[in-house]
Amino acid sequence: MPTFVDPSKCDGCKGGEKTACMYICPNDLMILDPEEMKAYNQEPDACWECYSCVKICPQGAITARPYADFAPMGGTCIPMRSADSIMWTVKFRNGNVKRFKFPIRTTPEGSIKPYDGRPEGANLEDELLFTETALATPKEALSKKFDVSEADKVFTCKEHGR
Ligand code: SF4
Ligand code: SF4
Repeated sequence: MPTFVDPSKCDGCKGGEKTACMYICPNDLMILDPEEMKAYNQEPDACWECYSCVKICPQGAITARPYADFAPMGGTCIPMRSADSIMWTVKFRNGNVKRFKFPIRTTPEGSIKPYDGRPEGANLEDELLFTETALATPKEALSKKFDVSEADKVFTCKEHGR
């Protein structure tokens, strides 16, 4: 289910050129009505329900219908971020409200270096896989799985013995 903006809470990010929800949406769905200065989801059918806009909105103005695996259809939910957790507020269709807090990763932003060391730029040019240091010949590759007899060309599977 897509997100929707509560216009009574949205302040248009105080007139910024690009609002927080426009900046964060990976699908460029959020757009600002320049007259009303309220954001809205311009193409709800294309919403991925990634919750990025919901989490970043400083006014808590964006709501998403929760996934059916943690709340029945017809409810709403708002995740509020803090430095170490997200407080989820789930409002059920009968009006009941439940809140639960979930810890988040506290690794400092930008401190993870996923490509630290390898692969180097030049590695993209060769045929080696990430863990390989040299290309295996076809015979070497075969010998990892089979006992290869050159004399009679009989291959015996190490696993099954035949
Ligand atoms: Fe409005 Fe929130 Fe979007 Fe800012 S981030 S424009 S307050 S809905
Ligand atoms: Fe865009 Fe994700 Fe928000 Fe949908 S939930 S409008 S895809 S940021």
